[in-house]
Amino acid sequence: SLTLGIVGLPNVGKSTLFNALTKNDVLAANYPFATIEPNVGVVGVPDERLGALAKIFDSQKIVPAAVSFVDIAGLVRGASTGQGRGNAFLANIREASAICQVIRAFSDPNVVHVDGKVSPADDMETINTELILADLQTLEKAIPRLEKEARMKKDRVPVLSAAREASSLLDSGTTLYAGGSGIDLDLLRELSLLTTKPFLYVFNVDEDELGNSSFLDELRSLVAPAEAVFLDAKIESELIDLPADEAQELLESVGQAEPGLNQLIRVGFRTLGLQTYLTAGPKEARAWTIPIGATAPEAAGVIHSDFQRGFIKAEVVSFDDLMAAGSMQEARSRGRVRMEGKEYVMQDGDVVEFRFNV
Ligand code: GDP
Repeated sequence: SLTLGIVGLPNVGKSTLFNALTKNDVLAANYPFATIEPNVGVVGVPDERLGALAKIFDSQKIVPAAVSFVDIAGLVRGASTGQGRGNAFLANIREASAICQVIRAFSDPNVVHVDGKVSPADDMETINTELILADLQTLEKAIPRLEKEARMKKDRVPVLSAAREASSLLDSGTTLYAGGSGIDLDLLRELSLLTTKPFLYVFNVDEDELGNSSFLDELRSLVAPAEAVFLDAKIESELIDLPADEAQELLESVGQAEPGLNQLIRVGFRTLGLQTYLTAGPKEARAWTIPIGATAPEAAGVIHSDFQRGFIKAEVVSFDDLMAAGSMQEARSRGRVRMEGKEYVMQDGDVVEFRFNV
């Protein structure tokens, strides 16, 4: 399954954040969490729509989508040359589908910064430099081999040129994800380069900066067009240990509508290229995970492969239309429930019932 690898310099709040994510009581018992390995957490994707659906359909339970986070400790300057746990670290990143980079923006003088000063821009560069150096090494090894292959087989020529283009882009200090739009990165998939993975950035900020939009905008501009999430990991770890009403009070006192973790989970899910569609009935209201762009039969296949094989059509209503109507019956009589065929591309928040042959 697809995972987000959490990386960052030491002491930026990665473990604090990971522990909060995997103990996420704030998400309530409705959101199941399971630990597979100590550094892997499967987290429910918070989705208020499920509660609303469960009300309409009188569902017994709610089953959210899930997303996995992997805490990849050990990134230090020099990781690409084997410093620290360098190689293990890089192998772990290779397995992740997207990279969630945690960056310190909190000032606490009691927490030592590895480089002696808090500088989000410098930290980001340090981390990206390690990832870029690792990719350059991979390419350096691969290119002579690709040159040989390209002499023998024509179809290896484009792979070689993509590798060369990637190498010169990385040389200029740019990750392939951020700057690789001109390069056919699919051709380089076999090399599992680190910087082709989608990135998202988590800025661990002081609580009194959470409402400081000019400060946050400045940080956001460091990473754009990648997405940025702002949270205070310390607050997040306090929130998970509080009863719901006190958690709500704490959130309000720092001017937040919801825990930063919720936002992180949703952005992470999106960064993985995933979206959900919804089903509901008396048994459960449930979110199903599909890749963005999936067709109706592909979506049906997530429930059961028989549903995909025998797909006839999908009865679809958008969540908003269903809510406005108040019931499935009313949505139908308003003409809001559509019959969609095999070509239909699923939209986030579609509420669906599949018709199929067995
Ligand atoms: P890691 O090395 O990146 O995993 O960092 P940790 O999560 O272990 O955090 C390092 C230290 O920073 C710990 O003492 C945390 O309590 C502290 N810390 C983490 N997040 C915050 C934060 O948002 N604000 C403050 N003031 N301290 C934090």
